[in-house]
Amino acid sequence: MELQNLFPKHSILQNLLASERELITRSCETVDLHLGDIIEEAGRPIQFLHFPINSAISLTNTQDQEHIVEVTVTGREGCSGSSIVLGDDRSPCLAMVQIPGTAIRLAAAVVMDKLTSLPYLHAAMARYNLLIMNLAVISVGCSQFHSPAQRLARWLKAHWQRTGLETFPFSSDFLALQVGVDSAIVKEALKDFQKQGLLELGLNRVIIADQDGLEGEACRCYTLAKESVEEYTGALGKLAKSLG
Ligand SMILES: [Zn+2]
Repeated sequence: MELQNLFPKHSILQNLLASERELITRSCETVDLHLGDIIEEAGRPIQFLHFPINSAISLTNTQDQEHIVEVTVTGREGCSGSSIVLGDDRSPCLAMVQIPGTAIRLAAAVVMDKLTSLPYLHAAMARYNLLIMNLAVISVGCSQFHSPAQRLARWLKAHWQRTGLETFPFSSDFLALQVGVDSAIVKEALKDFQKQGLLELGLNRVIIADQDGLEGEACRCYTLAKESVEEYTGALGKLAKSLG
């Protein structure tokens, strides 16, 4: 699909000022992201910003290969690498593709070179950094105080919210890693949700069958995070209006 047709599908890019769109379009390209692709490594320079269209990128805390926990997920509302506008080009965490699909890629160096001519994009990325902070705060409380089943339901609902997808290519082991709980516990919770008709399960496939029912099983962190995301996307529109 043409770049121009993809911009309206992304919360940040759809509000770009005409002058900014003109400035960055030539440097943008459409890329296919594959499950497990590493977009950024903690402490390493950020080369590209990725704006997911129908994909999702997980920002994770990684202790080792077997001990990874997701801090938050970036979908069509945000972009990877947004921290470059804070004055350091190194990534604060490992960013990994979690849902394969399309993204728009833009070289970080182009953004930094032209930052003064990109007032909306600069402000939108700064606002997105605040959203990440809000979501990280929610995640810390969630992993400390809420049950694995609640967290699993929240996690699936959050991914639906960020991507619009209801079918995910996840194995129970992958889900366990991302949610940060034991694989056997995740398998049990998935089976229980399936029994209640909330999910349909296949080989490396999880389908949300009952959105409201699954939301009922999620902890209140889902609602808190959803409201934060909605507040943020509303703020993007206001930002564009105030600058346009
Ligand atoms: Zn929670």
